Amino acid sequence: MSGCIFCAIVKGESPAVRVYEDDKTLVIMDRKPITNGHLLVIPKKHAEFLTELDDERVAELLKVAKKMSLALKKSKLRCKGMNYLLADGAEAGQEVFHVHMHLIPRYRGDGFYMHMPPKYENETSTEDLERIAAKIETMVL
Ligand code: ZN
Repeated sequence: MSGCIFCAIVKGESPAVRVYEDDKTLVIMDRKPITNGHLLVIPKKHAEFLTELDDERVAELLKVAKKMSLALKKSKLRCKGMNYLLADGAEAGQEVFHVHMHLIPRYRGDGFYMHMPPKYENETSTEDLERIAAKIETMVL
């Protein structure tokens, strides 16, 4: 897609530090790493959202994420954990509208945390959860 930075990187028209590549997926270093070794796993085919990818490409994305996670853990970076973050939609924090999964290696005391809203402290009643679940389950294909 024209104007898409990740499509330009896939085609080699924009620079990026590449870590891994196969016929369907590209992995690059994030230019603004949250922690040391922060990677982006990008399907080569343009799609804005995860739900636009066919099941095979979704599976490939996660397969490569696992492969890279194993590499990060075995590497001399010595990360102890991993956050797999896929921001899907502007409200979820997506900034580049070409599907990509962040692999954020975690280290003790690295200063990265998720900020929860104040209502997170309160448990939701079972009745409310069931009401919300009913709205979702009728939409599962
Ligand atoms: Zn794209």
